Amino acid sequence: MKNLDQLLRNNIRDLQPYSCARDEFKGEASVYLDANENPYNAPFNRYPDPLQLEVKEKISTIKNVASENIFLGNGSDEAIDLLYRAFCEPRVDNVVAIEPTYGMYKVSANINDIEYRRVLLDENFQFTAASILEACDANTKLVWLCSPNNPTGNNLNPDEIISLLKTFEGIVVVDEAYIDFAGVESFSTLLGQYPNLVVLQTLSKAWGSAAIRLGMAFASTAIIQVLNKIKYPYNVNMLTQRQALEALNNAEKVHAWVEILLDERKKLIGMLEELALVEHIYPTDSNFILVKVTDADAIYNYLVNQSIIVRNRNSVKLCGGCIRITVGTPNENTILIEELIKFGI
Ligand SMILES: *Cc1c(COP(=O)(O)O)cnc(C)c1O
Repeated sequence: MKNLDQLLRNNIRDLQPYSCARDEFKGEASVYLDANENPYNAPFNRYPDPLQLEVKEKISTIKNVASENIFLGNGSDEAIDLLYRAFCEPRVDNVVAIEPTYGMYKVSANINDIEYRRVLLDENFQFTAASILEACDANTKLVWLCSPNNPTGNNLNPDEIISLLKTFEGIVVVDEAYIDFAGVESFSTLLGQYPNLVVLQTLSKAWGSAAIRLGMAFASTAIIQVLNKIKYPYNVNMLTQRQALEALNNAEKVHAWVEILLDERKKLIGMLEELALVEHIYPTDSNFILVKVTDADAIYNYLVNQSIIVRNRNSVKLCGGCIRITVGTPNENTILIEELIKFGI
């Protein structure tokens, strides 16, 4: 990896961050007259912890990542945006991503006016480090990987990720939004070995907390310090911090949900295999299934009319003819299959 100061944008490297009242004085006091807050209307009158230390402590225990290697944001989407803002000079730098993948990497690149280069996956939805490196130049700051990948559902080959971490001079982001379903170890265990690694996770999927908006980035302390320096001071509100702790304190629920959903995934695949309109079911390591069907647009529209919403991925590269189905409750999955059977008649 290049040294961090070479990778960062100059303005970010030199930035003097805003110092808020809660940065200056940490710890417990009995009278708070420092932040121009209204003394009434507790507990909503006080600014929340800008660094979310209690939430991070809990995540640290669960994920086995030290608190100083954790950044928390308003969804993973905040971490994605901040990585662009930290590393990529508009109209100068570029990023490389696998294709197809999660749409926010590209949207965020466009918002930040950063060139977005794509490297098509192979027919098994895999990539090679060599193909990514071929697309890189001296101004490539970030590489976006997503494993398990959305919308394809599969884990990326870990050997190729490691090969890229060893050879790419910039930052490699591995988005693990679906890691709890994946049956493989998180790349966060390799943070100590690769200073250019950033791992993204979220409470939005297996943790059942998409509404509260809490995303996590795991990285070197140096990278985490940069993200903390450029984020909004109070980027994770008190209600979210509180509800995140509640979710994290009930981790056994998540394990139970994952077990149910993996079991349902298997059953759903079994039922889909029986349908004439299903042409191919791609292997999945996540809580959704990419399915090639006889007529994706017609089936999608038919399901919408039956008040069932799946994701039409027909126009996505390598996903022509495909719909993406999230695994639901046993009842939801049964309703879906019943309607698909009716479509066939
Ligand atoms: C759903 C998803 C996320 C979650 O984003 P949040 O902003 O944390 O809700 C991140 N990455 C991928 C690939 C996803 O599919």
